[in-house]
Amino acid sequence: MAQKEDYYSVLGVDRNADQNELKRAYRKMAMKYHPDRNPGNPEAEEKFKNINEAFEVLSNPQKRQIYDNYGAEGLNGAGAGGFHGGFSGFEDIFSSVFGDMFGGSFGGGAARARRPQRGNDLKQEVEVSLEEAYSGLEMEVSYNRVDTCDVCHGTGAQEGSGRKTCPTCRGSGVVQFSQGFFSMRQACPDCGGQGSILEKPCKACKGTGRQRSKANLKVKIPAGVREGIVLRVPNGGDIGTNDGGYGDLYIETHIKKHKIFQRDGDDLVLEIPVSFPQAALGAAVKLQNILKEEIKVIIPEGSQHGKVISVEGQGMPVLGKAGKKGNLRVVLNVEIPKKLTSRQKKIIEELSQAFEEEGSKKSLFEKLFG
Ligand SMILES: [Zn+2]
Ligand SMILES: [Zn+2]
Repeated sequence: MAQKEDYYSVLGVDRNADQNELKRAYRKMAMKYHPDRNPGNPEAEEKFKNINEAFEVLSNPQKRQIYDNYGAEGLNGAGAGGFHGGFSGFEDIFSSVFGDMFGGSFGGGAARARRPQRGNDLKQEVEVSLEEAYSGLEMEVSYNRVDTCDVCHGTGAQEGSGRKTCPTCRGSGVVQFSQGFFSMRQACPDCGGQGSILEKPCKACKGTGRQRSKANLKVKIPAGVREGIVLRVPNGGDIGTNDGGYGDLYIETHIKKHKIFQRDGDDLVLEIPVSFPQAALGAAVKLQNILKEEIKVIIPEGSQHGKVISVEGQGMPVLGKAGKKGNLRVVLNVEIPKKLTSRQKKIIEELSQAFEEEGSKKSLFEKLFG
């Protein structure tokens, strides 16, 4: 085996060079001998390998000291266990040295392409009845989202097939193009910077490992939910890429119109028909609340049309305040009968006469404007 060239002379620095000088020298040499700039030149390739090896050792103070004392043999010898294979990860060195130099766009392309990205958030609308809004419920929401492909289980590969070196970038994960004086590098568009591509992409997901599919999610709608309230379901959205995790699902709730009850904030409003005698004399009426439970409402003597009677605690639950409820507002609709039996007519005529006798002391004009 040929004697290895001295690491210091490989980088063209003297033995006292500090870290900055080493970095500068490495950049210069690596740029010059990078395989992408010297395609099909085995000498340059060998030189590039040596440059990386030299830099990997000299940029590490511990390894440098061993090298200074014992030479390259020392690094491979038993006495320096742990440094076998001396030259390990040139891509990491290359990225760390060139990455900061070009704001990550140079040589760091491969690393950037693999960065995890969280999935998209999704929005879904649901409609619940007023009774459901009162009690709260767990409902199943069906919608479409991007999820792990269930054919290849996310690998993107057809069963039994693997990956092969990307022919476009020959495994480096980066491609180079020239622009004026500059030679630019960017993540390989064919392998996304991974350096390898699928031998046989999964047919269901075209190799992405992700697929649009139907999701059924159980969602808890809280008691007292109001029109337009948006609930967040963590991880209910699309799946991300490179283990970036799921986005969230936002559920916008709508409340169906109720046949009998109207809602006003946390109150329920109920209009009831009241006869003239009930309004005039007062009455106790039985009603059903939203749970169809019987409740009793007292109509006071002399109630006017449109009067509101408030029944405490018979409204909607207050969202987020356990046990607290709004009121039921009973609105009196005093009805004038459209049809009367002759007996009823007679009674009302008598009543009318009684009113006239009572009011005879004042003229109609006086009653209205006096
Ligand atoms: Zn698939
Ligand atoms: Zn590629």
